[in-house]
Amino acid sequence: MTPGSPLTALKAPALAGIRRLNALDTVRARIAMAVDLGLLKPGERLPPTDEIARALGVGEITARRALVSLCAEGVLERRRGRNGGTLVAHRPVTGGVIEIEAYRSAADEVHRLIDQRLLLECGIAHLAASNVSRRQLEELEELVAQMDRVSSWAEFHTCDERFHTAIAAATGLPSAGDQYGPILRELYRYYLPYPLDYLRESNGEHAELVAALTGRDPLKAVDVTRRHVETLHRTMFVGLIGRQPSADVPPPAVPSPDEAVSVPASAECR
Ligand SMILES: [Zn+2]
Repeated sequence: MTPGSPLTALKAPALAGIRRLNALDTVRARIAMAVDLGLLKPGERLPPTDEIARALGVGEITARRALVSLCAEGVLERRRGRNGGTLVAHRPVTGGVIEIEAYRSAADEVHRLIDQRLLLECGIAHLAASNVSRRQLEELEELVAQMDRVSSWAEFHTCDERFHTAIAAATGLPSAGDQYGPILRELYRYYLPYPLDYLRESNGEHAELVAALTGRDPLKAVDVTRRHVETLHRTMFVGLIGRQPSADVPPPAVPSPDEAVSVPASAECR
């Protein structure tokens, strides 16, 4: 078989991952997987469609179609009236959304992306501690304050991306974002909706990082960045699949008794 032949192409790793999914299917997979893993709880209300669309990087019409199809399949449900909206079904159908398989099969790629992000972001944090401007520090402080105030995982996710992109800009190297941006965006395609409590907890590390930058302390900045990114191996879906939670146990990032105490109770959306 020659390289580039149809059979070679079918076996290419890219086809095993989520690239073969269209935008609609990625939204379906991410929400359904969050329900399967217990990150979104039965009866939990989803954020407004425009927020979901922004957070998951798709158009609003696509997000709406994904929600409608998941309602039809019993993963979500619509409720009318003053307290209406789209909610996780009270007894959600799990395991039925086949697009999830594409995410599961991309586990190796996700671990590789986390490592690449870790390498770049530690360097970024080190340089940013030397070069960050007063104005940039104010912008970062404001983003941390916003992430404490947001009312949904979708809003948090949008702020988180702005925060990490702003840290890259604070290095003062125009090309830092050229390398880091695509890795971050690629990794974000694998992020799932997360409980807001966990996201808020991860925001504590954002605050620690801003404090290290304010103190012009590159070692502290690198240390908190390392913790913030390294934990993704455990808290993203690649670390959660295989240990299916029961419906009432918070699944992510809660260290089990046999895990090292250094595992922070922190969240995926980082
Ligand atoms: Zn973050």
